[in-house]
Amino acid sequence: MAKPIDKIKWQELEDGAIVTEIGSAREYHTGSWRSARPVVNKDGCIKCGACWLFCPDMAISQSASGHFEADLTYCKGCGICVRECPAGCISMVDEEEA
Ligand code: SF4
Ligand code: SF4
Repeated sequence: MAKPIDKIKWQELEDGAIVTEIGSAREYHTGSWRSARPVVNKDGCIKCGACWLFCPDMAISQSASGHFEADLTYCKGCGICVRECPAGCISMVDEEEA
């Protein structure tokens, strides 16, 4: 019987490869993986840009007002922006409640 996926060590993973066209990242809508989304409380935002800097998917952009918000097409809900926000003004909201 195969081991459950959460019991497999990375050293035991089989070799594999994902082949895609160069420059095709925009076509992969990683937001479909998300179970929770980051929501910014604009009143608490100091417009520092740390969320933009740390987002591993470059899924945060600055609006005309200077506030930052996630592009939900690509935000996969990792929560890194919540952890890095120095003002504590981003919270993760369950997709079913959003
Ligand atoms: S939850 Fe993750 S992917 Fe989404 S905006 Fe924040 S850092 Fe980026
Ligand atoms: S990290 Fe927080 S305070 Fe800084 S721009 Fe992003 S939401 Fe605003």
